Amino acid sequence: MGADLVAGRTAIVTGAAQGIGLAIARLLHENGAKVVLVDLAADLAGQAAAGIGGDRLLPLACDVTDEASVEQVVRQTVEEFGSLEIYVNNAGIARDASLRKMSVDDFEAVMNVHLKGSWLGVRAASAVMREAGRGSIVNISSLSGKSGNAGQTNYSAAKAGIVGLTKAAAKELAHKGVRVNAVQPGLIRSAMTAAMSPQAFAEREAAIPMRRAGEPGEVAGAVLFLASDLSSYITGAVLEVGGGRFM
Ligand code: NAP
Repeated sequence: MGADLVAGRTAIVTGAAQGIGLAIARLLHENGAKVVLVDLAADLAGQAAAGIGGDRLLPLACDVTDEASVEQVVRQTVEEFGSLEIYVNNAGIARDASLRKMSVDDFEAVMNVHLKGSWLGVRAASAVMREAGRGSIVNISSLSGKSGNAGQTNYSAAKAGIVGLTKAAAKELAHKGVRVNAVQPGLIRSAMTAAMSPQAFAEREAAIPMRRAGEPGEVAGAVLFLASDLSSYITGAVLEVGGGRFM
């Protein structure tokens, strides 16, 4: 799907070593972007970049919960590629447990990666984009943040928080030419959902009107749309990619 929809632009994708983040990085690259693949482990980010292949790629290690690390990635990106037009907050973890069993550590770890990490990314990226007068930030929320999933009080809260962050930032940045939108994937095949039992996975699939889980590339398509000028009059929106679930 190489249509050059984001040719000449620079994108940072967090959590890009695998799964949905890797699919997003690949599709943005196919569409002409220079792409910075950010993940916790430098070697895995490097392998992901090698798997995509070609130039216009920069793998970087970064913990999205660390302010200095996120600021450094943005600085290094601008030094290397000269600009920053697209930032995708995708890095994520799950620490599922019932309220009776969930520890404060589980709660804080998930809030930190998803909510604090996205906030740090929005703040650092928008500082560059508002000066340039253009940019698109895409935050990966989840249908879990819309509907609430039992066993995911931490994750659902963080993903709902990302919607609030998206809308508030969109209002602050709209007049500066910077758009901020969110994507809410449903059940998508990745390492995160591979951890589910086959029975739980099948039950979730059965509840989806399209009767199947989504593929990472199907989330990437929505992100490409929001990152590109095809969505030039869309900001503060939440785009569901869930096969019709929870509509
Ligand atoms: P994944 O395969 O587990 O990939 C997530 C990536 O983020 C991993 O490479 C992970 O590295 C990285 N990461 C974790 N903590 C990080 C940190 N502090 N700093 C930088 N990178 C970090 O998950 P996925 O399924 O592709 O999910 C991607 C996003 O989509 C997440 O935000 C997730 O919540 C969201 N989402 C997924 C689904 C689904 O069904 N899969 C549905 C809705 C929303 P490690 O492996 O080293 O931890």
